[in-house]
Amino acid sequence: MDLKAHIRTIPDFPKPGILFYDISTLLAHAEAWRETVERLADAVRAYRPDVLAAIESRGFIFAAPVAYKLGIGFTMVRKVGKLPGAVVSHAYDLEYGSDTLQVAEGLVPAGSRVVLIDDLLATGGTAQASVQLLRKVGAEVAGAVFLIELMGLKGRARLDVPMTTLLGYE
Ligand code: AMP
Repeated sequence: MDLKAHIRTIPDFPKPGILFYDISTLLAHAEAWRETVERLADAVRAYRPDVLAAIESRGFIFAAPVAYKLGIGFTMVRKVGKLPGAVVSHAYDLEYGSDTLQVAEGLVPAGSRVVLIDDLLATGGTAQASVQLLRKVGAEVAGAVFLIELMGLKGRARLDVPMTTLLGYE
């Protein structure tokens, strides 16, 4: 099945000059969604994870059925201030300014093999910051899996873990 046919692009969202890859149409199509979950699960399984880590917020949508299918749990990597209780934080630089990602303390056992999942790899800044955060809690990041890769932005070069993407766009 051609999954690209189920992803729509919206120009100038959320800002002028950005072409937004919208997965809403994929989620709304039962067969395309099922095929996406199957293919993501195969990609994740190849890295033999103990646990999944998903990047806010669209990563959560993919992580939930994939974790269920593989019989493992998943942990949320969230923007600052969203998680209750004790958290571990990692600040990282953006083009202008900085941002912080957090995970709940104590949910990812030290030494566990973690696979990171998100909808889309653009510059790779968010994913690499998530990798560093997971290492901070003692995880071994075994791989990263994305539905979409915007290849022109060279995020792949920024990530220092093995990665798999299902759909590449120039
Ligand atoms: P980056 O840190 O540049 O790799 O950006 C990745 C994050 O931003 C992912 O969580 C994506 O969901 C989101 N994102 C970045 N660019 C786009 C885009 N053109 N369309 C949809 N989502 C995007």
